[in-house]
Amino acid sequence: MTKKSFCSKINIMKEKTLLITGASKGIGAECARLFAKNGYNVAFCYNKSKLEAENLEKELLSYGVKVFCVKADLSKSDETKNFVNESIKIFKKIDVLINNAGISLKKLFIDCDEKDYSKIFDINFKSIVITTQLVLKNMLNYKEGKIINISSLWGEIGGSCEALYSASKSAIIGLTKALSKEYGLMNININAITPGFIQTDMNNNLTLDEINSFKETTSLNRLGTPNDVAELALFLANEKSSYITGQIIGVNGGIF
Ligand code: NAP
Repeated sequence: MTKKSFCSKINIMKEKTLLITGASKGIGAECARLFAKNGYNVAFCYNKSKLEAENLEKELLSYGVKVFCVKADLSKSDETKNFVNESIKIFKKIDVLINNAGISLKKLFIDCDEKDYSKIFDINFKSIVITTQLVLKNMLNYKEGKIINISSLWGEIGGSCEALYSASKSAIIGLTKALSKEYGLMNININAITPGFIQTDMNNNLTLDEINSFKETTSLNRLGTPNDVAELALFLANEKSSYITGQIIGVNGGIF
């Protein structure tokens, strides 16, 4: 075997793929970026932010990895399934799944209607159930995998005027703990990250006063960045964290 063919064989053996939902911006985009910089192929979807997604796709390709990017509205089961099935068809093996896509809703609970409930739960929770079922089946074929669910601090402690959002994020915590027990013996690690205040478009509707008062409740007296979350996700995807599963890990600057 020549040196060149030996190296390319090693590369194929080492090739890993991340499937991530909603990576056109914010935390998802930063995770995709960090994983690609660390050699992962990336399959990601977006819904509304087409230009951001196209720019991210170009950037990821420049790191020399393979990329699959598609528009998929995760509130629709068929689009969710198409995205995941197409990704599996292209990459064969999904090593890491990050369930990231999510929307928030700031409203008094008594003003929320069934439409609000369906919108929040379809995107924040149902899409995770569908995506995880399909990816788990793929991971079970290889008896290995890492699943990282992006929940929220509000899923742990509850946020006033964000009851439905908080509940959808609590549901992710329950799912994470249960699945970690169900699939631990199959060498699949399943954890959740609960970010506190992270500077992304999701918080664009907050006033400066609200942002500052949140900052003051953190031990570190600073707001979080998407990279703070992405670095933890990368660690949870690595074999160095192989004894960590079923955990709900905060990235919140020490809010308690
Ligand atoms: P963001 O900047 O608003 O990004 C949200 C991402 O989700 C976008 O890429 C968006 O894609 C995607 N998305 C939303 N609805 C979708 C749909 N129907 N179909 C497909 N993709 C969809 O928010 P972020 O702060 O990065 O949030 C990422 C995750 O972190 C969310 O689950 C959020 O709940 C969680 N989180 C955030 C914070 C925070 O302070 N920022 C705190 C705790 C938890 P398009 O723009 O293309 O539609």
